[in-house]
Amino acid sequence: TWIDQVVRQDEIDPYLEQGKPFINEERIWREIASGSNPTPERVRDILKKSLEIQSLSPEETAVLLNVKDRQLLREMADTAARVKQKVYDSRIVTFAPLYLSNHCVNSCLYCGFRQDNGGMKRSRLSMEEIRRETEALAGKFGHKRLIVVYGEHPDSDIDFMEKSINQIYQVRAKTRKGHGSIRRVNVNAAPMSVEKLRRLKNVGVGTYQVFQESYHPGTYSQAHPPGTLKGNYLWRLFSMHRAMDAGIDDVGIGALFGLYDWRFEVMGLVHHARDLERRYNGIGPHTISFPRLEQADNAPFLNDMKYRVSDEDFLKIITILRLAVPYTGLIITAREPAHIRDKAVKLGVTQMDASTRIGLGAYSRETDGQEISSQQFMLGDTRSLEELIGDLADMGCITSFCTAGYRIGRTGERIMKLLRECHEGDFCRMNAVITFREWLDDFASPEIKVRGEALIARELAGINRDLPKYQGKFRPMYDSTCRGKRDLYL
Ligand code: SF4
Repeated sequence: TWIDQVVRQDEIDPYLEQGKPFINEERIWREIASGSNPTPERVRDILKKSLEIQSLSPEETAVLLNVKDRQLLREMADTAARVKQKVYDSRIVTFAPLYLSNHCVNSCLYCGFRQDNGGMKRSRLSMEEIRRETEALAGKFGHKRLIVVYGEHPDSDIDFMEKSINQIYQVRAKTRKGHGSIRRVNVNAAPMSVEKLRRLKNVGVGTYQVFQESYHPGTYSQAHPPGTLKGNYLWRLFSMHRAMDAGIDDVGIGALFGLYDWRFEVMGLVHHARDLERRYNGIGPHTISFPRLEQADNAPFLNDMKYRVSDEDFLKIITILRLAVPYTGLIITAREPAHIRDKAVKLGVTQMDASTRIGLGAYSRETDGQEISSQQFMLGDTRSLEELIGDLADMGCITSFCTAGYRIGRTGERIMKLLRECHEGDFCRMNAVITFREWLDDFASPEIKVRGEALIARELAGINRDLPKYQGKFRPMYDSTCRGKRDLYL
């Protein structure tokens, strides 16, 4: 069948061990059971390990999953916040999602885009529409990073991906002091062969994301009917392995929480991270995402939400992921309401979207409303980028638009080493100030500018104090940025 032409068994087999994948259902349940009733000493030993920025084993993660004691839960949250501060300081990176098409050949039962949802308005953006969307994102909102989302469909093949990404990188949008552009395009797209992933790498993508949705094989097949392209669990499970083999070493994994028991999904993510680390010289996922199932148009799986994740458990999931994979970026999207996202920031999230619109072509349309008939799900947080920046400033966080990493070759092994040794922050800290300066001068209202200046003053003093060896390089770049020069980075 045509599915067999897409799914390459010869690109699944090499990643199996004795014919088996790294996810083993019985073993995961055994690990979860073995962590039950942990002593406070055991929990505290594990927290100490996280604080040393060492990945936790699945068994150690299972211990944290089993903690119920209020005092220990507080200690876990405090340690997660300290780990975040140690590796990422008080920076939050912002981005916007850009949906390029909502054609899809699959039938995931929780998704409004599924092929058999006849009520969905379908389209794929033309190159002219992509140009207009990018102009709005870079010129009106001030974004520098996108995550571009493609449906799984022959219309969104690798040729379209290359063309659309090139189009996005070419746009120069007028701003107050010059021009704005998108400097990093991350991609969320269907699993691909190594050959196609190489083409994606060559077009200059940042992170390549594929979420497993559910690591639990039985649930996976219920939610993704067999006979559809996405019905192949293993083809999806090894997407990131193939990406690494294709030279894309910034990869993003994720699970859709609410499909199955959240403890199993956390264990799945940790096993995934460990398998990547083990096979690729310690290079684990650059980011982890943990969306919760949301209401979607005409989605039968949502009628019986047996595994719905409560707010309390959701915050525990974030805490545990921060502790278990201390070097990774954690992404919380605008699916979640503002009050949950604000709490998540304190637990160690590092990336958030803002001014988010997920209707096709919605950034360049003069509409602020959500459009259920063309969206994959409904958003919980509709704050503008400026509002988010203000709220983050109130929490002591600086918003970073830095895109230096992949442009300067700080990816894969290099970035992992820096993150583990807590030195990635040195560059990111300086680049955050430079890019935040740009945004303040190009886009901020007078009120946000005042709050932003106070943050910059604090950060400049910190850089002066902690990073004297970079002053000679950093200061001239910062001063040139104040004078209107753009896109300088270390
Ligand atoms: Fe298609 Fe993705 Fe929706 Fe599945 S989740 S139906 S693959 S858009």
